[in-house]
This record gives sequence, structure tokens and C-alpha cells, in this order.
Amino acid sequence: MKNYDIEADRSQIADLFMRYVKIILHEYKDKVPTDIKEKLSKITDFKDLVQIENTGTISLFAKPSDSTIHLPLDAYKAIQALSQFPEYGLDKSHQTHDKNNMIINDNTYRDFVEHVILKGETPVEYFREILLHEVMHICGSGGSSALAEGFNELKTRELASKYGLETSCCGYPKETKIAFELQQIFGKEICDKLAFSQLKERFTILREELGEEAVSLYADVYANMEHQFRPYMNKNYPGVAGIKEKCDTYDKIDYSKVYDSLNQYKKQKEENKSLSKKRGFVNQITLNFLIGFSISIFFLLSLILFPK
Ligand SMILES: [Zn+2]
Repeated sequence: MKNYDIEADRSQIADLFMRYVKIILHEYKDKVPTDIKEKLSKITDFKDLVQIENTGTISLFAKPSDSTIHLPLDAYKAIQALSQFPEYGLDKSHQTHDKNNMIINDNTYRDFVEHVILKGETPVEYFREILLHEVMHICGSGGSSALAEGFNELKTRELASKYGLETSCCGYPKETKIAFELQQIFGKEICDKLAFSQLKERFTILREELGEEAVSLYADVYANMEHQFRPYMNKNYPGVAGIKEKCDTYDKIDYSKVYDSLNQYKKQKEENKSLSKKRGFVNQITLNFLIGFSISIFFLLSLILFPK
């Protein structure tokens, strides 16, 4: 294996980890749960929390319970293997996105791997493009479920776009689109709250802010997504061979039922809106009639009471 300086990589990731925590706490100061804020404020050495080890996968992951980031040793082997490809480093300035398609795009993990090859990335460069998403989890942004991952990735991209931070913009593309659709319906402020809450709290937030219909929509979307996502999530994709399998399995995820629910909800809202408009129109006619009627009575009475 090439001589990578794993300790230097660990230090670089630890410095970025500390910087990202500061930015996330600043941006989402009233959304990050208080106990997590307190826990993070006590960290003196972020390097202690970055571990490079055999994880059985080439993705890095976070363990929010002890605020640790786990970098996979396998990524060093995988990138070493990818570096043998003739395309490796062919386009050093390759990008997965520009400012116009940073939030919503069709990039998948396959595009990310192609990007890593074309750009000729080192393991630490590869880690850097996933790190922000993982630090969001450490700061209390939900994960594990399909919808929570979608919201986490959406918030990661919004933050990266606002502060000019590195991120691949290739994680969970289908889930991010659905989170974005829900954000169009529920509004950004509520979705920021949802992203940093536990599942039970999310239902309370939606019930209090938007009512039962919003709760049902969220529950429906959540359950349908889980049904599709679980087989993909529960599988292991070790090494370079795992990359193709991971991509193929992801391609098979079909969220069309989720879109049916979203469209049904939007249609219902539109119908309710036009119904209340019609009601408003009818009320206006009734009001006009009553005013007209009162004026006529007034004239009639004045004719009777004060004849010329
Ligand atoms: Zn995640």
C-alpha cells in the first residue's frame, strides 16, 4: 500500500470536525438539543474522537452517543485499487455539482466514486467530502431512517452552500429530494426543527405547528420510505467489489408511493384552498345582499315615516 500518513489525516479531520461543530452550533443554535450543546462544549481534544479503524465498509460514520467519527482503513486500500485505473486523476478539477444544483441533483454514490477516481482523490480528500454530513449527526441531526438521512443531507448541503464548505452532494439523493419536497410543504423553520429532533418530538412539532394532516403525511412518507430503504441499509458492502453492489441496490429503491402521498396531500390542500375561496365568494354575495336589503328597508322606512 502507498505510504499514506494516517496520523496526519486524523489531525486534518479533527481540525475540520472542530470547525464544523462551531459552524453548526452557530447556524442551528436554537435547534441543537441542549444536552448535546453542553456535551460538545466540553470537548477539549477533537483528535481523541477521530478513529481510523477497520469498519467493514468504505464509508465513514459517526457515533453520536460518544461523539466519535470513524474513518475506515478499507478506504486506503480501496483508493489504492482505484488509483490503478487509467482514469485516476484524469480531471484534477472535477466537481460533482455547481452552485445551481448543489441542493437538488441526481448524483448518486456511483457519481461520487467516479468523481473520486477522475479527481484522483487521496483518502483524506475522500473523507473530507463526507465529513460534514457525519458531524451534523454528532450535533443531533437525525439519521438511520431514510427520511432522517434525507433531512440530514438536505441540511448539510444548505450549510455547505451558505458557508462554502466541502461536501460531495452525492449522499442520499432520492431521500434528499423527498426532504426538500416536505420542506416546500411544511416550511424551512419547521423542517430545521424536525431535522434536530427525535421521531416522537417530530410528531409533536408537526401537530402543534401544522395539525393532524401534517402528522399523517409525515408518518405515511416515513413508513413508505422505510419499507423501500431498509433492505439497502441493512446490507454490507465491503471493499471495492462492494461499491458496485451498493450502487445497484440503491438504484432499485423506488419511492413512487411516497410521491403519490405527497401529490395527494398537495391536491387536497389546493382543493381546500379553492373551496374556502368559493366560500369567501358566497359569503361576500350574502353580505352584499344583506347590505343592499338593509339600505332598501331604510329608504322604505324613511318614505313611510317622513313622507314629502
Ligand atoms: Zn447519515
